Amino acid sequence: MSNREVRVRFAPSPTGPLHMGGVRTALFNYLFAKRHGGKFILRIEDTDQTRFVPGAEEYIMESLAWCGISFDEGIREGGAFGPYRQSDRKSLYKQYSDQLVESGAAYMAFDTPEELETMRTKLETENAAIRQYNAGTRMGMRNSLSLSEAEVKTLLAAGTPYVVRFKLPNNEDIVINDIIRGEVTFNSLQLDDKVLFKSDGMPTYHLANVVDDYLMKISHVIRGEEWLPSMPLHVLLYRAFGWEAVMPEFAHLPLLLKPVGKGKLSKRDGDKMGFPVFPMQWKDPETGEFSRGYREDGYFAEAFVNLLALLGWNSGTEQEIFTMQALTELFGFDRVSKSGARFDPEKAKWFNHQYLQLKTDAELASLYQKFLQQKGIKVEESVLVKIVPHVKQRVNFVHEMWEQSAFFFVAPESYDEKSAKKNWKEQTPELMTKLAEVLEACTEFTANVTETTVKAWIEANQHGMGAVMNAFRLAIVGAPQGPHMFDIIEVLGKTETLKRLKKAIETIK
Ligand code: GLU
Repeated sequence: MSNREVRVRFAPSPTGPLHMGGVRTALFNYLFAKRHGGKFILRIEDTDQTRFVPGAEEYIMESLAWCGISFDEGIREGGAFGPYRQSDRKSLYKQYSDQLVESGAAYMAFDTPEELETMRTKLETENAAIRQYNAGTRMGMRNSLSLSEAEVKTLLAAGTPYVVRFKLPNNEDIVINDIIRGEVTFNSLQLDDKVLFKSDGMPTYHLANVVDDYLMKISHVIRGEEWLPSMPLHVLLYRAFGWEAVMPEFAHLPLLLKPVGKGKLSKRDGDKMGFPVFPMQWKDPETGEFSRGYREDGYFAEAFVNLLALLGWNSGTEQEIFTMQALTELFGFDRVSKSGARFDPEKAKWFNHQYLQLKTDAELASLYQKFLQQKGIKVEESVLVKIVPHVKQRVNFVHEMWEQSAFFFVAPESYDEKSAKKNWKEQTPELMTKLAEVLEACTEFTANVTETTVKAWIEANQHGMGAVMNAFRLAIVGAPQGPHMFDIIEVLGKTETLKRLKKAIETIK
């Protein structure tokens, strides 16, 4: 790597919610910047006004903030290279487009959409080898290369709308180095004379992106594989501007692939298989439709970041759990794969499970308390601290603790029939009445004391462990589930335990 100052950018277009692949791109940029003591910049690429979606920009920033991915420069942070939103830089791009037209690296094209369409159909019916707008076809189109100078002047004088197109070389191999992929070769005839500047006075993505990377002194362009086809054009633009010496290095990250089958991970896969593809919930401003998000689904931000980091990167060891700090120390492109990274929704849950186990009981109790509050259930944190350790191993998410522990907060209203049939015998009511007396007599109601006392009583009277404990569980929990019985009743306390026993004796037939 050169000794140039590392300056990288995440450059999303605010066209909707940020896909998890986008978050992964931002993360790899962030990690790379941190690893090399560089700067990370957020640039909003909103030159295509027709695709602008209200709220998307805020969504992008909030999502990344949730993930703990912060910027050194950006639309909120400011910085010496601003403004950081392309629509606020609008006045800046025309001079660069003009520069290329003047030098002959670009040209004006007057073709109307209809003319382009006609040409396209014609080339298709002719089954032409080259159908793109480039050296193979451009002389048959209406542009400042095919028309005479006088014709061009007349068109301009009449105010005819035109776009500026990049003039690609004819049949030339463009060989470029990608940090992840190594040498990549493109032939110019496979490419398009891309529009750089539109008739509405706005630059296209390609021009604005390259000009801004140059002006913002970007050292490395790290982005998704879908931008690989744009790389030759971008490199040619650097050359045309005479900026080759400061051209950034390119790294195109592998695609995120569907859990099963071929292709890119899409929102439809998530909808079908029941997992989110967005970091946070998104409400479509037009349809009002909600798309689920990792945050609202109960993922910890650290788990989400961790799982994203391993989609296309590995540490070279068996280790899978990494804090953000550890990632900033380990991340490098030498361990980013060329091939796509398959997303596994079950593994995603596994990561959350791991992070949940790493939380202290106090932290989990506090999170669980918030969840219960939303349900209208008020429980002291000191009580929850006792419940959490008994259920956390069985869950992937804080909200799943409810299923495992609801009986702590609500007495059973019905009793599992199968278990009742099996465990509630004729003599059970009498047995439970005696058990209630034994428990009543316990001066201390800790798990230790009740367990020793009850077990001693069972043994002394030869009641049979199963006969007592299974019925006891049915009476207290309502079903054959839950942690150790004596842990449960310690949390419930003597009064509630006896109350539940009494109710069961009266109810279960
Ligand atoms: N605006 C592009 C996007 O939406 C940025 C691509 C790039 O990083 O060059 O992904």
